[in-house]
Amino acid sequence: MTEAVPHYRVAVIGTGFAGIGMAVRLRQAGLRDFVILERADGIGGTWRDNSYPGAACDVPSHLYSFSFALNPHWSRTFSPQPEIWDYMKRVAGEHGVDRHVRYGSDVKAARWEPEDNRWRIETSSGTVTAQFLVSGAGPLADPTYPDIKGLDAFEGKLFHSAEWDHDHDLTGRRVAVIGTGASAIQFVPKIQPQVGKLSLFQRTAPWVMFRHDRDITKAESWLYRNIPGAQQIARKSIYWGRESYILGFAKNPKLLGIVERLGRANINRSVKDPVLRAKLTPTFRAGCKRILMSNDYYPALARPNVDVVTDGIVEVRPNSVVTRDSSGKETEHEVDTIILGTGFQVTDPPIAHRVYDSEGRSLAEHWGNDVQAFRGTTVNGFPNAFVLAGPNTGLGHTSQVFMIEAQIRYTMEALKFACRNRVDRLEPRPEAQRAYNKMIDKSMQGTVWVTGGCDSWYLNEEGRNTTLWPTFTWNYALRTRWFDPHNYDLRRVRSTKKRKDAVPA
Ligand SMILES: Cc1cc2nc3c(=O)[nH]c(=O)nc-3n(C[C@H](O)[C@H](O)[C@H](O)COP(=O)(O)OP(=O)(O)OC[C@H]3O[C@@H](n4cnc5c(N)ncnc54)[C@H](O)[C@@H]3O)c2cc1C
Repeated sequence: MTEAVPHYRVAVIGTGFAGIGMAVRLRQAGLRDFVILERADGIGGTWRDNSYPGAACDVPSHLYSFSFALNPHWSRTFSPQPEIWDYMKRVAGEHGVDRHVRYGSDVKAARWEPEDNRWRIETSSGTVTAQFLVSGAGPLADPTYPDIKGLDAFEGKLFHSAEWDHDHDLTGRRVAVIGTGASAIQFVPKIQPQVGKLSLFQRTAPWVMFRHDRDITKAESWLYRNIPGAQQIARKSIYWGRESYILGFAKNPKLLGIVERLGRANINRSVKDPVLRAKLTPTFRAGCKRILMSNDYYPALARPNVDVVTDGIVEVRPNSVVTRDSSGKETEHEVDTIILGTGFQVTDPPIAHRVYDSEGRSLAEHWGNDVQAFRGTTVNGFPNAFVLAGPNTGLGHTSQVFMIEAQIRYTMEALKFACRNRVDRLEPRPEAQRAYNKMIDKSMQGTVWVTGGCDSWYLNEEGRNTTLWPTFTWNYALRTRWFDPHNYDLRRVRSTKKRKDAVPA
């Protein structure tokens, strides 16, 4: 006897901010007929996985949180990872999200079945079907391992910052850190006092600004708990302060000269050695790559047990990392631990290789090098599917949760529309998707992300920015405020029977 495949109205992938937020909104709309498929054995996405020393948000916590679940208990302006993870678990618990999650369910393939207008989703824990598929698989959920000769044959300890090995004692070790991105600048200052020698392999020096991080006082917490609206005011003021960055990033990049002066002052304050200063001074316009924030990164790099290596890595040997300078001279750096701070698979998201259209073509094949969607959320050729944190919804200046919530609102509006109008298939029209992406490309012109003179993961091989939203986030929120059926091909249900699993309008 074959086992019945469970069917749901909605299947959500992931339990990061996107998956949790989506689940909360579905439940608030009265829908219980949904499942969340999570490959790990706990909730939390980014904030479950990235537990490296010093992990914290770099957008203030009052803003880097759900609009419907403000947290008066943040201990710091930029909260550490354990607190953010606890917050997510608490929100999920309070809103009954937990009971929908199927842990240990790695989505291997999601295939559109046109005859039944539903998705067949094969996971490591079995198959389910669903009318609608919402991917919250995360833009930064899968670490990137650099393609360096000999890396596999390294005989010491090697791990990625997103998979930190807390059992590996770093005391007195000779540690290589590869990469100087957002994670490395957080963990390097934390491990520097502990390790014997730290060799930091830097390909590009990032802009690093002073971070106004401080304890949130008891009085402030009291205010947030007891005075209605107080925390909303704090959140709004951070939001609008952050939105003003767009004036520099997108409208007039010359303004970023001020940021660069602050960045250089930050280097000069902590680093006296002119050679090291030169190594650490970026050679591109601030904002072209993500601007990082730290108060202890530069002081750590100025310590005697740290060596900042800017020559390119040519190979890894069983006990060393070998670099070559511009004259061709090779240097062998002996190490017993390598920590990869090499980021995530953003421009070629693994989930896109696992979602297939009716002809068996994967979303990744469909996209090729040119990742795009309609309103960053729906994709022509992939009916009834929604991608949270999708193409061109990334940000260089403010909270990703804001964008995710806007997408969730749009998705909910689409689901409600489908229910009210007895639509069982919706798919963005190709011309609507083209026009939308034309608008994105036009808005991207002149921004620091394409003119800033850096080689960033925001851009694809042709130099098209497929990751970032090009302007103010309120503009995105407005565009996704209401569902726009005229931009969709819709197929209506023929039966007149009322569905028992409808999403209430
Ligand atoms: C170290 C770090 C710090 C960051 N700090 C900030 C910050 O300060 N401000 C900011 O705005 N953004 C920050 N970000 C970006 C951050 O990723 C987003 O803000 C947000 O957390 C993304 O949420 P998500 O739910 O889309 O993805 P994630 O949190 O990545 O969650 C994705 C979930 O999907 C699951 N999943 C993936 N693939 C599958 C599959 N095939 N099957 C089943 N489950 C799957 C994963 O296990 C994971 O639980 C940071 C990212 C990192 C890595």
